[in-house]
Amino acid sequence: MRRKLAAGNWKMNGTGAALDALDAIATAHPAPTVDILICPPATLLSRASQAILGSAVTLGGQDCHAEASGAHTGDISAAMLADAGAGAVILGHSERRADHAETDAQVCAKTRAALEAGLIAVVCIGETLAEREAGQTLDVVCGQLAGSLPDGITGNQIVVAYEPVWAIGTGKVPTLEQIAEVHDALRGQLVGRYGAETGHGIRLLYGGSVKPGNAAEIFAVSNVDGALVGGASLSAADFSPIVTAL
Ligand code: 13P
Repeated sequence: MRRKLAAGNWKMNGTGAALDALDAIATAHPAPTVDILICPPATLLSRASQAILGSAVTLGGQDCHAEASGAHTGDISAAMLADAGAGAVILGHSERRADHAETDAQVCAKTRAALEAGLIAVVCIGETLAEREAGQTLDVVCGQLAGSLPDGITGNQIVVAYEPVWAIGTGKVPTLEQIAEVHDALRGQLVGRYGAETGHGIRLLYGGSVKPGNAAEIFAVSNVDGALVGGASLSAADFSPIVTAL
């Protein structure tokens, strides 16, 4: 049975004052029946790890380098994230694929590095509006999934987040049928590639304009094991109802 996961991606938001929101989220869910992961900016990880001590919340990074160390100015390795208190890392988010031209092969290398450092990799995929309108959604997301995940994984090391690019930060959400179609296809591909145990063990999150008002209906969709939440993860008032809806 896959444990549900409510994950928050704070993106490039938050200085020290944002730790209050983290504290409020942790305090609101002392003994949750689902996993809660918050991914603040890397600059906050150390302080955040102190703030969540003894709580049920775990922390993640938002990206890592594929190498363990070296001459890569400005980059952060998976081991550094782990050292700062992260247990997971988001990889291949569409904003990184767009802003930094990250390819599936690079995301795959980063995923390997994350697993090597003992982190859970939250690997993001999703089609653009043009790709959806051209009827290419399943080809695109299945291609990204194939290229972004390495061989030799186990189900508890990987989370896949389906985030349609056109749904991120827009208030637009696919229909429940569209979400089900993609998630069912992803599950089928994972089981085909990795076998039943691993393929059924990998959690599939939906992400893109998840809010308190639409979370419950999205969570009821086939093969949706939780959400990767952007804007609504920045405050306990918005994020807590999403956690509770799972
Ligand atoms: P929003 O929830 O703000 O649409 O962002 C989704 C997202 O990109 C999470 O990674």
